[in-house]
Amino acid sequence: MKKAAIIGSGIAGIACSVRLANKGYAVDVFEQNGYPGGKLSTFTLGNYRFDAGPSLFTMPHFVEELFTLCGEDVSAHFSYKKKKIACEYFWEDGLTLTAYGNLEHYLNEVEQKLGVSPQVLQNYLTKAKKKYDLTAGLFLEKSLHKLSTYLSTDTLKALLQIHTLELQANLNQVNENQLQEPHLVQLYNRYATYNGSDPYQTPGIMSLVQHLEQHYGTFVPEKGMGAITQSVYALAKRQGVKFHFNQKVERIQVHQKKATGITINNENHDYDLVVSNMDVVPSYRYLMPDQKAPEKTLQQERSSSAVIFYWGIKTSFPQLDLHNIFFSADYREEFRYIFEDSSICDDPTIYVNITSKDVPEDAPEGCENWFVMINTPADKGQDWDQLVAALRIKVIRKIERILKTSIEDKIEVEEVLTPPLIQSKTQSHLGALYGASSNNTMAAFWRHPNFSQRIKNLYFCGGSVHPGGGIPLCLLSAKIVSEQIPKASYATKSITD
Ligand code: FAD
Repeated sequence: MKKAAIIGSGIAGIACSVRLANKGYAVDVFEQNGYPGGKLSTFTLGNYRFDAGPSLFTMPHFVEELFTLCGEDVSAHFSYKKKKIACEYFWEDGLTLTAYGNLEHYLNEVEQKLGVSPQVLQNYLTKAKKKYDLTAGLFLEKSLHKLSTYLSTDTLKALLQIHTLELQANLNQVNENQLQEPHLVQLYNRYATYNGSDPYQTPGIMSLVQHLEQHYGTFVPEKGMGAITQSVYALAKRQGVKFHFNQKVERIQVHQKKATGITINNENHDYDLVVSNMDVVPSYRYLMPDQKAPEKTLQQERSSSAVIFYWGIKTSFPQLDLHNIFFSADYREEFRYIFEDSSICDDPTIYVNITSKDVPEDAPEGCENWFVMINTPADKGQDWDQLVAALRIKVIRKIERILKTSIEDKIEVEEVLTPPLIQSKTQSHLGALYGASSNNTMAAFWRHPNFSQRIKNLYFCGGSVHPGGGIPLCLLSAKIVSEQIPKASYATKSITD
C-alpha cells in the first residue's frame, strides 16, 4: 500500500489526511503537540471553555464536503446554525450598528443609523459579488501554478473584466469612493484583517472578502469552533488515518530530488509522498536546510498577528452577541502602527467573541467567556510583556468607556496569547495568523504553491501556502493537494512524475 506522511495536524493537515486516505493511501499524521487542530483548538480555564484561535465560521460546505466524500452524513457528526446577527459594532462616538444576516434588515439598519441609502450599499455589495464570482474559481479553487489554470475560460473571463477587480486602488480608496460615510468605510475596511492585511495597502479586489460573510452568511458550530477540528479528526480516524502526537518532525528526507520520507528523533521513516502542513518558512529552513529555498516567496511580508486575552467574565452583557467590534477612532493610524512601526497604537480596535451566547455550556450560568483579540504586528522581537501589560489596561478602559460599566472587577479567570506563543504552539513564522500578508497586488502569485516545483512527491497545505489563511482556504488547500495526487492504485514509481 502506498504511504503518505503529513507533517502537522492543523485543519488543513487533517482535511488532507481524509482526502488521501480516501484515495487509498495509508496516511500517518505527525503532530508536535499532544492535541490536534493547531490554531483551531480549544481549552478550558476554570469553568469556562475557549476556542484558542479562529472564531468566525464561514463556508461550512467545505467541511461538509469531507463527510460527503467519505459517504457519511455530516449531520450525524457535526452541526452548526446560521447566525441572525453577523456582528455588533460599537464606536467611541456612541454609535452602534447591528449587522443583521438578513440583507433587508441590514440595509435598513445602515440607512437608519448612518443615513446611507440602501441603493448605495447594495451597489457596493453587487460589485463585490462580481469580483468574487470572477476570481473564486481561479484564485481560490485551483492551483495558480499549473499552466492549465491559465488556459481555462475562467481566466479569460477574469482577464476581460480586469477593471472590475479594482486592482489599482487600495481597499480604503475603493470603500471611500463607493460608500463615503466614515463609519461604513471603516466597517468595510475591517475585512482586510480577515487575511491579516492592511486596508490602506491591500488592493481593492479584497472587498470580495465580505461577500463570503454577507452573501453566504456566518455560522456557529453547536459545540464551538473546536468541534470543526474534533469532527474532521474523528472522520480521519474512521478513514484509517493514524495520528502520532508529541512527534516533532525534524527533517524531510530528499534523495535525487524526490521526497522519500521524514526524520523524527533521528530515525528515518520512508514514505511515498510527504505533505507539509507546517508553515512553509520553517518547512524549508528547518526541515530541508540543504535544499534551495524559494527565497522571494519566503521573504514576503508576514500578515498581522494578535494578542488575545481569554477572560471568564462573571456577569452577562445583553447588548453583546457572538461577534462584537469596538472600533478605534483612527483606523489609518492603527494600521500604520502595525505595518510600519511594528507596534500597537494607543487606541486599537477590539474584537470580543463570546461563544457562550450560542453555546451556553461554555460558561457558568450568568457568566460569559470572552475572547478579546487585538490585531498586532508579527513578532519582530518586540518586548511583548511590556506591550501586553500596557495593552490590557487600554483594552479594559476602552470597553468600559463604550459599555459604560466596569469590567475589570468581573474578570474571574484569565489567559493571554501573544505572537511568540502563537509561533511556539504552531510553528507559524513570526506568529503571523495568515502566512504572508496580501498587502500588494502580486501577493496571491507569490504565495507558495501546493506542491514543490523542485522536489517530487512533496506537497504543502495550510494557511501559509496557496490559496491562503483562514479555515475555508485551508480546507481548499487540502483539496488542491489531493487533486495533484493520483489514487494510490494508479501511483507508480513516482507520484508526481
Ligand atoms: P495550523 O493551525 O497552523 O497548524 C499547524 C500544525 O502543524 C500545528 O498543530 C503544529 O503544531 C504542527 N507542526 C508544525 N511543525 C511541525 C513539525 N515539525 N512536526 C510536527 N508538527 C508540526 N481563520 C478563520 O477562518 N476565522 C477566524 O476567525 C480566524 N481567527 C483567527 C484567530 C487567531 C488568534 C488565529 C491564530 C488564527 C485565526 N484564523 C482564523 C486563521 C486560522 O486559524 C488558520 O488559517 C488555520 O487554522 C491554519 O490551519 P493550518 O492547517 O494552516 O495549520
